[in-house]
Amino acid sequence: MELDLAPARRLLDPASLASCGLCPRRCGANRAAGERGACGAASTLRLARAALHMWEEPPISGDAGSGTIFFSGCPLKCVYCQNHEISTGNFGIEVPPERLVEIMLELQDQGALNINLVTATHYAHLLPQALADARRRGLSIPVVYNTSGYERVEAIRELEGLVDIWLTDFKYASSRLGSELSHVPDYPQVAAAALAEMASQVERAGGQASRPDGTWTRGIIVRHLVLPGHADDSCRVLDQIWDAAGDVPVSVMNQYTPNAAMRAAGGLLSRAVTSQEYEQVLNHADDLGFTTIFWQEGGAVDESFTPPFDTTGVLVRADAGSGTLRAEKEDAS
Ligand code: SF4
Repeated sequence: MELDLAPARRLLDPASLASCGLCPRRCGANRAAGERGACGAASTLRLARAALHMWEEPPISGDAGSGTIFFSGCPLKCVYCQNHEISTGNFGIEVPPERLVEIMLELQDQGALNINLVTATHYAHLLPQALADARRRGLSIPVVYNTSGYERVEAIRELEGLVDIWLTDFKYASSRLGSELSHVPDYPQVAAAALAEMASQVERAGGQASRPDGTWTRGIIVRHLVLPGHADDSCRVLDQIWDAAGDVPVSVMNQYTPNAAMRAAGGLLSRAVTSQEYEQVLNHADDLGFTTIFWQEGGAVDESFTPPFDTTGVLVRADAGSGTLRAEKEDAS
């Protein structure tokens, strides 16, 4: 008798969409019947962009670029989001899951070092099948799961063996900030539990692995965007990362750029991070003993970090030109 070694996928079973609990919000939307959850997603897959991206951390982007696929919608909708067209506006085009498979193969053909799934949390139920199909059809590059960090541990467990590199945020140590800025007061506990599971998976798989050129085929990077006026919380975030996962590579970013809403609101989040704030956080990372710290030179507010969301690569491969159909923008807030 053959043993079925595939892990049971209860949460990532597409049937679970009848009362969605894919993300920690567990809002129970009947997405199978077309209802939209707090993330803005219903039953159909929406994508905003699929193209090579050169500005991830060096082991992810290398010289050739990371094959980023931006999923529309987001369970968090942070008030300062720099991708707000996608996260809150739900910008994108509906495509069948088979197109997701084709996109992965097209990105590989274009020379991508990896497939980088950006904010796929609310579409994670499609990933086991899509990745299995893509592997069957010749996908051989690693898969990066690029997430806000607000993930159910059960979902992360069910993705074990499918994801090679975890690229996860850890945004806040304070429940108050989680509540005020991302509408999720349980962010710190949820992110810490998910991070611990991601780090354990990398260890179980044999630890970080690289190509001869230094780009990675397996590993984890924990990202933190320093927010203006909140350097102390950033230091507590680093404490929590250390407690949950130990000496994992961290990426401490100063690229915060106030969006129009934040500029209009005034206050702390209407400005960039100062060099003193950034140094305080970097010094704390160093003091804690993190061995690998990615950091950014120069200041914030560089638009090149944010790609144009123009549906490039969603309907036709990216090097065949920009998307030619007008994408729908929805008010999914
Ligand atoms: S993924 Fe979306 S629909 Fe599902 S629980 Fe989260 S917010 Fe609700």
